[in-house]
Amino acid sequence: LSDPPYDVVVLGAGPAGEVCAGKLGLGGLRVALVEEHLVGGECSYYACMPSKALLRPLELMTEVRRIPGVREAVRGDIDAPAVLTRRDEVVHRLDDTTQLPWLERRHVALVRGRARLAGERRVEVDGEALEADRAVVVAVGSDPVFPDVPGLADARPWTNRRGTTSETVPERLIVMGGGPVGVELAQAWSSLGSAVTLVERAERLLHREEPFASAEVEDGLRAAGVDVVTGTEVTAVSRNGAASATLSDGRSIAADELLLALGRRPRTLELGLESVGLEPGAPIEVDDAMRSTAAPWLYAVGDVNGRTPFTHMGKYHARLAAANILGGHVREAPQNARSLSPRVIFTEPQVAAIGHTLASAERAGIRAVAADAPTQGSAGASFFGRDTPGTSRLVVDRERGVLVGATFVGPEVGEMIHAATVAIVGEVPLERLAHAVPSFPTRNELWLYLLEAYEQRKEAV
Ligand SMILES: Cc1cc2nc3c(=O)[nH]c(=O)nc-3n(C[C@H](O)[C@H](O)[C@H](O)COP(=O)(O)OP(=O)(O)OC[C@H]3O[C@@H](n4cnc5c(N)ncnc54)[C@H](O)[C@@H]3O)c2cc1C
Repeated sequence: LSDPPYDVVVLGAGPAGEVCAGKLGLGGLRVALVEEHLVGGECSYYACMPSKALLRPLELMTEVRRIPGVREAVRGDIDAPAVLTRRDEVVHRLDDTTQLPWLERRHVALVRGRARLAGERRVEVDGEALEADRAVVVAVGSDPVFPDVPGLADARPWTNRRGTTSETVPERLIVMGGGPVGVELAQAWSSLGSAVTLVERAERLLHREEPFASAEVEDGLRAAGVDVVTGTEVTAVSRNGAASATLSDGRSIAADELLLALGRRPRTLELGLESVGLEPGAPIEVDDAMRSTAAPWLYAVGDVNGRTPFTHMGKYHARLAAANILGGHVREAPQNARSLSPRVIFTEPQVAAIGHTLASAERAGIRAVAADAPTQGSAGASFFGRDTPGTSRLVVDRERGVLVGATFVGPEVGEMIHAATVAIVGEVPLERLAHAVPSFPTRNELWLYLLEAYEQRKEAV
């Protein structure tokens, strides 16, 4: 393991911090990784991993019920206690021991404790100083947004932490927020027997995605028993045993628990940012090399840089930062910027998207054409996701003849989005894409129908 003096100190052992520290360790640098809670971060214990463990049974059950011959073999409902036990296994019962050998093999020294920046290339961990000869990488992640709603704090709402690790299923649950986290957790708890009401201020769920994705996910939530209320806010909350939420439409709803899913903010309030001339509470802004705009020795990766709050993007940023610290000159691809990066929402049906929606492409001044097809239009769909609704769309830059966006909605489309990611990041010309032949009978033959739809659309517009 690395000993002091260190070349690099990494703050936070979530997916971004771990990947960065590991790459630097393999690159021969002496690396310390500071973690105040669990190695693996929010993602492994309270976010991506437990939420997918809670969602997968509904997805599988729904699929099994579509297939004659096997649906008859499955009787009864989802067994909620068994699902929660499996979820506990997935999060290793909140024990990070199994994560440690990965760091050891990369010679990374793990320092347990809370870190703060304390001036140039200097970090304090619970009062003890650590110097970094070359760089400091901040990867402390994000906290849930806690809105200023009267009575909310006293009502002790769940954040994503209880929302993913609760040992019991609340009889009634109100979910505040209809973004990716809100829709996923609403459907998960509903599938385990909770009576869920989801309240979203915007006129539609998932308002950054294509409108058809919002509508199709809303249908899926309703089919799973979720009461979806859009265009409405929670204006006050009280708790007297049960919680009660007052809505902007004047209604009041009672529930046993209330879950906040209103977005994230960088975890930088108590990080000593003022010691390096940055503003506490704000994201640490970085350039395309992941280097802070405030100091050349300071890097920020993952949710804390405010760019793209996904695990895969945090790990990508971590790889870029490590390569640059090791002496390379690697920059983020423009297709990965902000809301353009790949994203999957693991509801039933799933939404998998990359790049622009039609509206965002038009706002960006692109002469965009959208081509749509039913996700299940292929022969492969006779066997997989049989008879399900769902729309898919390619967004094409008409002038450059390349894809700038793709959205698929349907069962398990998350596994299909990477082809679109390769086409978009690789800027593959459409006429070349016509030679990329999907196997028969796989659902990827959808690409043929989307490209045909584009050929017809482009004549019309
Ligand atoms: C419910 C939910 C589901 C999600 N599902 C997905 C998904 O399916 N796919 C996806 O890509 N993204 C998903 N996300 C987003 C994903 O969880 C985050 O993008 C990801 O965790 C960010 O990784 P990170 O390394 O930046 O931060 P984190 O995972 O938050 O890790 C930061 C680490 O830093 C530590 N730390 C913080 N401050 C200090 C300090 N001062 N000193 C020492 N240590 C510190 C923390 O303890 C933590 O371990 C989900 C989020 C939520 C809330």
